[in-house]
Amino acid sequence: MMASQKMCLYRCRANLVTSWKDDNPRRRFLSCPLWQSGRGCGFFEWYDPVMCKRSRVIIPGLLRKLNEKEADIERLK
Ligand SMILES: [Zn+2]
Repeated sequence: MMASQKMCLYRCRANLVTSWKDDNPRRRFLSCPLWQSGRGCGFFEWYDPVMCKRSRVIIPGLLRKLNEKEADIERLK
């Protein structure tokens, strides 16, 4: 994948991560592979373009609905 060729400040291969925050739902970014361990170099770069306001409003609502439906299915099993 092209994105994984990108190097972070420590010259390690940057990870492609998907954001699940409500203000940037499903927007992907590149970050230092050591970032989650707290020892990363602080490298951070958005991979996907800026999301329009409308999708930032709609997607979290859809995700919530999907989660509710999945919880329903679990309950009905
Ligand atoms: Zn790094």
